[in-house]
Amino acid sequence: MTQNPLFATYARADLAFVHGEGAWLTTEDNRRFLDFAAGVAVNSLGHGHPHLVATLKEQADKLWHVSNLYDSPGQRKLGERLCAATFAEKVFFTNSGAESLECAIKTARHYHFANGEEERFNILTFDGAFHGRTLATIAAGGQAKYLEGFGPKAAGFENLADTDIELVKKSVDETTAAILIEPIQGEGGIREIDPSFLKALRALCDETGTLLIFDEVQTGVGRTGKLFAYEWAGIEPDIMAIAKGIGGGFPLGACLATAKVAESMVPGTHGSTYGGNPLATAVGNAVLDVVLEDGFLQQVQATGLLLKQKLAALADSHPDLVEMVRGEGLLLGLKCKMAPAGLLAKVREHGLLTVPAGDNVLRLLPPLTIGREEIDFAISALDAALNEVRDDMSKADRNEQ
Ligand SMILES: *Cc1c(COP(=O)(O)O)cnc(C)c1O
Repeated sequence: MTQNPLFATYARADLAFVHGEGAWLTTEDNRRFLDFAAGVAVNSLGHGHPHLVATLKEQADKLWHVSNLYDSPGQRKLGERLCAATFAEKVFFTNSGAESLECAIKTARHYHFANGEEERFNILTFDGAFHGRTLATIAAGGQAKYLEGFGPKAAGFENLADTDIELVKKSVDETTAAILIEPIQGEGGIREIDPSFLKALRALCDETGTLLIFDEVQTGVGRTGKLFAYEWAGIEPDIMAIAKGIGGGFPLGACLATAKVAESMVPGTHGSTYGGNPLATAVGNAVLDVVLEDGFLQQVQATGLLLKQKLAALADSHPDLVEMVRGEGLLLGLKCKMAPAGLLAKVREHGLLTVPAGDNVLRLLPPLTIGREEIDFAISALDAALNEVRDDMSKADRNEQ
């Protein structure tokens, strides 16, 4: 056998998928799995969605890429629709979540710079945050496990230990450019941020001229049952980073902002070769065609509620292993009483794919289009896997004695 040529950066499961349809994936050797990972909250409309496939094929026949040296009707259209549906008035397109965050960070700093306050470049973030893997975004996330060994931490980020408004008030000073937060922490373990805290952040930002940046890379585009999770809190950010769900599987991200904040980002201040290319924006527009359809988000809310109720019942019947159910819409997590790696492997043996997260959480991120049958399949797989985990643990206990 030849050596694996790939960087060993991922602890990959020994599964190779070759086909996907709806919420189901098939391996090379014809095994089927129910996909409650959805490419880590990316395949918002599942696999092989007919409208997305047709759109991509149609665009592939016309034009793939021209760079941002020219006008882009696809970007304009997607930008107009994102602005019409959100607080935003301006959009910059990227290819990933981390790049959307980079644009958000640069936009916040440059806004203050253009206002003659170049000392305002610091950004406050929160414990458990995840904002990506670039040098700036690992500094923003502040997690030692991602920072270690990669040289000096990029300056200008302070990670606060708690979502405590008094702590934030103490930490905002004349150097603070922005506060950056995920309305529900995804990688951190589906940790919901209290809406009253988000409201207090908005008020503090208004008082101090600090910008409020939401990272909705994971929570956005219908995942929580609203188009964006900030809507649940009844406030609006100044800048928002999105990606994952907006491309439905095609690499696409965006940084959204108010016109006032985006104003200083003039020619030469930022750029991306691929960002928002015709293939990506065609698919992004197709995703919005579906997600913005009447009743789609209500359906996500109803499906999310049903899944959450069934998970709560499951947690009740396994109180020794599951502490609680967390999350909103179809961004859900089982907070376990042990590291969830063993459970994840067991549910996979029962044909269900899930994602681990921090804080002992097993993440459930199905396509937004799942139905009752898929929920029932997932619950039975989880139930069986939890029983097996318990059996294994008691066997291990007996062996120790
Ligand atoms: C996934 C994620 C990112 C990073 O996105 P990439 O596309 O992997 O760069 C940033 N923030 C949040 C909240 C995420 O979930």
